[in-house]
Amino acid sequence: MTAGIPSSRIDTSKPHPARVYDWLLGGKDNYPVDQEVAEKLPAEARANAARNRAFMHRASGWLAAQGVDQFLDIGTGIPTSPNLHQVVQAVTPHARVVYTDNDPIVLRHAEALLVSSPEGMTDYIHADVREAEAIVERAARTLDFTRPVALSLIALMHFLPDDQDPYGITRTLVDALPSGSYLVLSHGTADQHPELRQETETAYEKGAIALRMRTRAEVEPFFEGLELVDPGLVTAPEWHQEGQTAPVYERSGFYVGVARVR
Ligand code: SAH
Repeated sequence: MTAGIPSSRIDTSKPHPARVYDWLLGGKDNYPVDQEVAEKLPAEARANAARNRAFMHRASGWLAAQGVDQFLDIGTGIPTSPNLHQVVQAVTPHARVVYTDNDPIVLRHAEALLVSSPEGMTDYIHADVREAEAIVERAARTLDFTRPVALSLIALMHFLPDDQDPYGITRTLVDALPSGSYLVLSHGTADQHPELRQETETAYEKGAIALRMRTRAEVEPFFEGLELVDPGLVTAPEWHQEGQTAPVYERSGFYVGVARVR
C-alpha cells in the first residue's frame, strides 16, 4: 500500500492529533482548531495523556536497562521533554533513536529539539506509519536491524480505523525486527470508562479526526506471536511503577504492553 508522502505544510484550519495531544499535555504548539477538539473531550483526557506519556518514559527506561540500545518510535508527537532519546541516552549514552511522524508540525520541531547525545545518534523520518516498509528502509540508515530494536507505537494505532489494516501494518513492522527485539504499544480504549465513550468520540468526530478506540480483545491481536513481558497487557498506570510493589490500578483510557520478539 502506498500512503504517499505526507504534506509538510502546517494546516491551521483543521485539527491534528499531535496538536490536540500537545494541548492535553499542557504544551503551546497547538491552534484554536485543536483547542476546540481538546476542550470538548472529557476532563480526564488531560490526566490520561500524562499517564500515557509517563508509561512511555518508564517503558523506554526499562528497555534501555535491559540493554536495548536501538529505538524506532513511530507517532512521536510534538517534542515534549523528556523525549524518548533523552530517557534512553541517560541510561545508555550511545543509544540510537529514529523518530517518525506524519504531522508537519512535528517535522518542524524535530530538527531543533531531537538532538542526540554526542555518543549516540537520532534521526527523524517524515512519513506515515502506513508506509511501513519505507520507514524500515530509511531507519536502517541509522539502526542495525540485525541487532535488537525496540519499536514503539505509543498512542498511535487508535488513529487507524480497521480498514487501514492496523494489525497488518504492525505485523510488517515487527517482521522487520530480529529476535530479542521489543514492541511497545499503547492504545486508547473506553473499557475503563464506557460512560465517556460518546463524549470522546464526538469530540474527535467534530474535528474530522478518525478515532478507533479498541476493547481489550481488540488490542490483544497487536501482540500476536510475541511474548508479553510482566505485567502483561494492563492499564497505563499499572505498568511497572517505580518503587511500587503492588500494581496501581487507575482508569487511564489506555491499554499498554511491552512484548519480546522470539
Ligand atoms: N507517541 C507520543 C505521541 C502520541 S500522539 C506519545 O505517546 O507521547 C499521536 C501521534 O501519532 C501524533 O503525533 C500524530 O501526528 C501521529 N500520527 C497519527 N496518525 C499517524 C500516521 N498515520 N502515521 C504517522 N504518525 C501518525
